[in-house]
Order: sequence, then C-alpha cells, then structure tokens
Amino acid sequence: MIEKYKIVIGCEIHTQLTTKTKAFCACENRYGGMPDTRVCPVCLGLPGAMPRISKGYVEKGAIAGLALNCHISNYAKFDRKHYFYPDLAKGYQITQYDIPLCTDGFIDLPYVHLPESQRPGGSDYIGVDFTGKNNDIDGKFKRIRIERIHLEEDVGKSLHLEGKHSYIDYNRSGTPLIEIVTKPDMTSPEEAALFMQTAQEILRFVQVTNGNLEEGNMRCDANINLTIWEDGKEYHTPISEIKNLNSFRSIKDACHYEAQRQLEEFKTNRQPFDPGFKNTMGWDDVNGKTVIQRTKNSFIDYRFTTEPDIKPFIVSDEFIENARKQVGELPESKRARYRKEFGLSDFDVETLTSSKTLATWFEEAAKNAKDVKKVANLILAELLAIVNERGVAINELGITPVHITQLANAASDGKITSKQSKEVFAEMMASGKLPEDIIKEKGFVVVTDTSAIEGFVTQVIAENPKAVEDFKGGKTNVVGWLMGQVMKKSGGKANPKVATELLKKQLEAL
Ligand code: ZN
Ligand code: MN
Repeated sequence: MIEKYKIVIGCEIHTQLTTKTKAFCACENRYGGMPDTRVCPVCLGLPGAMPRISKGYVEKGAIAGLALNCHISNYAKFDRKHYFYPDLAKGYQITQYDIPLCTDGFIDLPYVHLPESQRPGGSDYIGVDFTGKNNDIDGKFKRIRIERIHLEEDVGKSLHLEGKHSYIDYNRSGTPLIEIVTKPDMTSPEEAALFMQTAQEILRFVQVTNGNLEEGNMRCDANINLTIWEDGKEYHTPISEIKNLNSFRSIKDACHYEAQRQLEEFKTNRQPFDPGFKNTMGWDDVNGKTVIQRTKNSFIDYRFTTEPDIKPFIVSDEFIENARKQVGELPESKRARYRKEFGLSDFDVETLTSSKTLATWFEEAAKNAKDVKKVANLILAELLAIVNERGVAINELGITPVHITQLANAASDGKITSKQSKEVFAEMMASGKLPEDIIKEKGFVVVTDTSAIEGFVTQVIAENPKAVEDFKGGKTNVVGWLMGQVMKKSGGKANPKVATELLKKQLEAL
C-alpha cells in the first residue's frame, strides 16, 4: 500500500538579457519585427564569421548571479555544444559548459504567496519532512538552492504553418540568455510557479531582463518526479523534463498533471528510477496534458569543446564589485524596510516595490518629507492612476519627486487645505510647475492667525441665530454647517483645524 508520496521538482529557467546588441555580434537585440531583419554573418553562422562578446553581456550575467546570491567565477570561457536542429544556425550553440559564470546561489520564496495548505505544517504536507537544512527560514521563506547560472546564446524561432511548411526566423538567433539551474528543492507545483515568479521579480528589479513571458523572454523547463513510500520501502519514479513552460499557470498545471500521471503509472506499470533515463515532455495547454516527445533519453553526445574564437578571460574582483553595486537593495529587503521605517501597509509596500523605477522614485520623494505616509498616498492614489491612464512609467510624467515632497509637506504644515491640495496637484500635473510656486501664485495662504479666524467665527455666529438656537437645543450636527460658513467667509483659507476648535469654543461659551 502507498503510504505517502512527495513531489520533487527542479527548474531550468532561460531568460533573455537586455543588452543593446546580440550576444556575439552587433545586431540589435530586440523582440518582434519582420523576420530575418536583424541578422548578420555571425548570427547566421556563415563560414569565417567571428564572434565577439557584446558590451554588457557578461556584466548583466554577473548582476543576475549576484542578485540571486551566487558566487561569480574569476575565470570565464565559452564552449560549443553541438547538435543538429534547423533553428540552430551554426550547428552548435555557444554556451558555458564546465565553468559557469555563477554558482551556488539561492532564492528565498516568500510563503505568504502560497496557499495555507502548502506552508510548513499545512495539510498538503502531512508526512513530509520540512526540516531540510536550507528550508523554512523563520517560517516565512523557503530557500531554493541554485546550482549554477551560465551564459549562452538563443536559437532562431521555428514557425510551423498550416502543418505543411516550416519557416525559421533568425532574429532571435544569437540573442543573449542566461540559464538558471536549481537543485531539486521544490516540493509542489505552486512552489515551482512561485520560484519562477520570484526569479522574474528579482531579475526585472535589477534590470537585466524584461522578463516578459508572453514574448518568450523567460521560459522554464521543469524536471519532476515522485518519491513514494510503499510497504515500508522508498521508490523514485523516472524523471520527466517538461520543456518550455511559458506562464506561471502552465508550470503549475503541467506539474500537477505530471505528478498524477506518474503516480498512476507507478501503480499500474511501475518503471524503476534510472539516472540515465529521462522522459522529455511538452505541455499541451489546450488539452491540459503533458505529451511525451522523447522517451529513453539515449545518451546525446554534444561534443562539448572550448569555443576557439573567444579567448577565455579573467573576471576581475573590481568588475564583480561594480556589478554588485548595481544590484543594490532587492525588493524583499526594501519591503521589510518600508514597513519598519515608514509604517506602511503590506499592500502599499508591495505596490511601491513593484519596480526599481517606482521604488527609487518613492524613496527620492520620501527623503525630505515630513510625513512619508502622505508621500506614499499621493503616489499610490493619485500618480499611479495617471501612470496607468497614460501607460507610461512614473519618471515619464513630467514631474519630479521634489514636486511630491513639496506638495506633501505643504499639506503636513497646514499651509494648504485638502481642497487646495487637489488644485495644486492638477496644476502641477498640467504645467510641471513646483507646488511651492503654484501656492504662491494662487495666493493659497492658509490663515492660521487665531485672531483673524476668531473674527470670522464671531461674524458667522451673529449672522445665523437660527442655527445657534438649534445648537443650544441639542442639534450638534449644525456645527458642520456653521464650519462651512466660516470657511466660506475666509475664502477657503482658514486652517480648518483651528477654525473648528474656535467655533466649538465660542458656541459652548454662549
Ligand atoms: Zn548578428
Ligand atoms: Mn540551455
């Protein structure tokens, strides 16, 4: 009888890097456009063409590695991996074989994004040992180890049309990739999807990739099998590698399906685990099934050899330190800091750290603010609405963080009323003028001078005997109406807090 089983998943993620040019030639590195419009002898694999490492390629690879807590090798080289496929122009792929640029990293997955049942002690994990040495940090994170990250080039894109003809678009041929290889540390389909999501967030944050799944910027191969305990014995099912998963949902669905399929297979016709045996599968999104592409992975000899056209090179400590500076503070630690330093809510903090541009902009605006919450509110409630409406980034709105600091401070100091604040905001967005200048121009000077406000209060009380009578009769809600009269008299300039106090004081003294 099967007592329990555990899902074991390891991922390989391929991610496009955002260098200006392709990995080893001067062709523009970008998605889309007419087929074969960004090609040259190097990325078409024409004889005699010589590759050269593009500016920023190794650096972006190192930034990615450091952001994922890897060690960066001081010695780097490229290798050739030979195989035949029509989209592989040269007949080999330039990659890194035995010496990857980055090794031994990790990503901590925040449990908060997993269903309760999947957190330690959750109902899905009854009987599963969660106490692995790297797992479960403070009960908040689960650490997924990264074995290596290497640099390699992408291949062209095959288009199979009408089931008759196949075409190849070489625009993608030779574009720069990193491949992230994890240890088999994930124990549920949800965790595998969360891994990809967290990796995407971090790599986007450090601005090495667009991480756009729909454009194939990031794709995941999931290696999955089961550990099964039956009649006191432990079994392992053969590993399936599900190729090219390009959405979080498809990772989750494919792993769920494949785990069930392996369990059924074990029950009916059990296949023994064999380290040299791996099923290569595809995921049929429409029918919700994994499809076998290759069984028994007979040993493929890739004939790896050092790439002779690119000299091995030293990655200096200085180069690595410079890359480390560009990593900066990562989203998870920013979130913790915003909560602690500014007392912002989880929701606000998630939004403010959703991109580096936004987080940097917010921090800039918060720097000289008297009330950071006011700054956060202006950004979250007002600016992001306009960002969405116009479909631009926050730094393309035509205003600077200083605008928001000034507006928030004017309100904090009681220099303007909330109604005036809205007016200043609208004017600032339209003209780009600084709030302090707008306040001066419009003559928005809140009257906090007690004697002046007292004068308005006295007048209002004298002119509205009926309301005053009502108040005396116990109708305290007339205070709001009287308050409105005071504000009107002051031309909207009275400090509302002071005015309310004085009005109440005079009414009660009657
Ligand atoms: Zn090229
Ligand atoms: Mn690869």
